[in-house]
Amino acid sequence: MDEPEFLFELRVCRWAEQHWPPTGDRDPDSSVLVARQLGIRSRRYDTLVFECDTAALDARGVLGEDRLESDMLHVLTNAPSSYGYYRDVLPDPGYSWSHVRETIHDADARGLIDTRRDGNRIEIRRRYRYPDWVNRVIAIENKPDLSASAADALVDQIERDVALGLADEVWIATETTDEKVSPALFERLPVEAGILAVGDEVNVAWNATTLAPEERGTRILDRPDGGSYDQSAARFEYADPDWKREKRRRIAERAYERGWRSYVETMRPDCRAFELRSPDTPLPYCRAKERHVTAAECRHACESFAPEPPAWRSNGWPIDGGPGRGYTRLLARQRSRRR
Ligand code: SF4
Repeated sequence: MDEPEFLFELRVCRWAEQHWPPTGDRDPDSSVLVARQLGIRSRRYDTLVFECDTAALDARGVLGEDRLESDMLHVLTNAPSSYGYYRDVLPDPGYSWSHVRETIHDADARGLIDTRRDGNRIEIRRRYRYPDWVNRVIAIENKPDLSASAADALVDQIERDVALGLADEVWIATETTDEKVSPALFERLPVEAGILAVGDEVNVAWNATTLAPEERGTRILDRPDGGSYDQSAARFEYADPDWKREKRRRIAERAYERGWRSYVETMRPDCRAFELRSPDTPLPYCRAKERHVTAAECRHACESFAPEPPAWRSNGWPIDGGPGRGYTRLLARQRSRRR
């Protein structure tokens, strides 16, 4: 991801966190959780906005900050309220029971279920009910600069997203200096996709249509290029509602763990040139390069990396650490507050 797109994406994430939905009418009982660069198979969504039930989101917090994988969810959502032998009370998972046993031990160690032994048999009982904390999922594709070739690639992707209907809404965010969006984009994009015009403010240039994630979707596998000699047919398969529900939950769990500020985990806040220029909209800045930097540039392989001088860390070190640790803590605190 090049620099403008990376920084644009962080700005969109920050805006969505504060202002979603674009109408400004956030339900007082709902919260918004934002994540970036998450997806399924080969499809990664740039920005994902989760409209959540606030009480259910709080209940999810009781289960810890780490994501719950699908094998863990299988145990948590099926464990009964009173003890039972795990092979009797859990539905066949479709994978080995020995893996289920390992997951049970893991869940027990994390305090998520109760277990006891009856001879050789492990019995389980739930401690918490897994809450349905996501109401709606919004996918936003960020394209600050919509050149004709970028628009071509985008249209194909958005058509696939709309056909699959994994998200409730699909949007494109594009940078506009004069608040005008190219008419070509309106003509080529599926009408269901919304368009956000991002300038000093963010405005809706075209409203998104609500899709039907609870219904069967269409996965476009291959499509003819449309040339005059291309007689081939498009290939597709159906995605059933259970598959979609499971994928949405899985993505939501990963989003819960990571949020959108986790980019700092792969960067070098321990470099003396690293800075967050505005802690409110935390954009990573490199004093050596004298500009904002992407996660792809600011990493272990950066040739300009220079460690923080030990003196920076001596104030309270090792508990407080230097500025780098301070930035990491700041972002972690902001992320926790959003959960
Ligand atoms: S010099 Fe390299 S590692 Fe250090 S802040 Fe700049 S980009 Fe990151």
